[in-house]
Amino acid sequence: MPEGKIVKALSGFYYVLHDGVMIQCRGRGVFRKNKITPLVGDEVVFQAENERDGYIMEVKERKNELVRPPIANVDQAILVFSAVEPDFSTVLLDRFLVLVEYNHIKPLICITKMDLTNDNEKQAINEYADHYRNIGYEVLLTSSETEAGIEGLTPHVEDKISVFAGQSGVGKSSLLNVLRPDLELKTNDISSHLGRGKHTTRHVELISIGSGLIADTPGFSSLEFTDIEAEELTYCFPEMARESENCKFRACLHISEPKCAVKAAVESQNITQYRYQHYVDFLQEIKERKPRY
Ligand code: GDP
Ligand code: ZN
Repeated sequence: MPEGKIVKALSGFYYVLHDGVMIQCRGRGVFRKNKITPLVGDEVVFQAENERDGYIMEVKERKNELVRPPIANVDQAILVFSAVEPDFSTVLLDRFLVLVEYNHIKPLICITKMDLTNDNEKQAINEYADHYRNIGYEVLLTSSETEAGIEGLTPHVEDKISVFAGQSGVGKSSLLNVLRPDLELKTNDISSHLGRGKHTTRHVELISIGSGLIADTPGFSSLEFTDIEAEELTYCFPEMARESENCKFRACLHISEPKCAVKAAVESQNITQYRYQHYVDFLQEIKERKPRY
């Protein structure tokens, strides 16, 4: 039986992409007994009725699953930040990075609106970009206005399911417009899905960009650290995770424990001071979180 990927779900139909052709499918098969609802992003086995219609028979095991928007098998989160308007914020970027790392999704940092920066702002952004590159992150500087840097983005979306993330107004829909000008998305369209009432059904759709797929609705709309435990936070900061191997205590939280390798790395400037400060602040936030039950 053929296999494909669900790129859109609407009114009980699942639209399955198979060999570049879209098959309109209904659900049927064992997965329904297991209470599995097919999601956009799912790899499925389907039975074709004819060239256009079919039935989903099986949902393959998921690599991961985002809740808002509901989408499975996300490979990459493109974290969109504007250099200016609104100003670039490392604390907000670190918050997104923690959530993305926690979900085992690969982050790609994209700093937009570079055309609006003056020389000082350009220099500052380049320095921040280097900090994050030193940690191991990929950082792209782009402008949707001049399309500068966009060619660097295209290879990163190939063969992957990506989701945009970032504050409203940073330029997510503008980027999608540059990648797929034929869609003529209104700017701010993709953000307008954010913050809607709980009762609105959200339809998420994967848009193909060459061999890649990008969700038309941004992910990580909630920036709360609801599921993260204090001991897990270190692992959401890759440079701290590396250093923490050498902390004296296995359960070191890198606050006031003796012989802490993370604090030593901050002293010797191998870990950026503001990254450590964000770790401390986020840890405090997690510790103060009210128990959920
Ligand atoms: P979203 O809310 O993240 O989807 O942001 P939009 O794509 O709607 O962009 C918000 C505003 O910023 C719009 O007025 C865009 O025209 C503008 N904008 C987005 N990207 C750029 C850019 O690279 N350069 C300039 N000059 N303006 C941009
Ligand atoms: Zn430590």
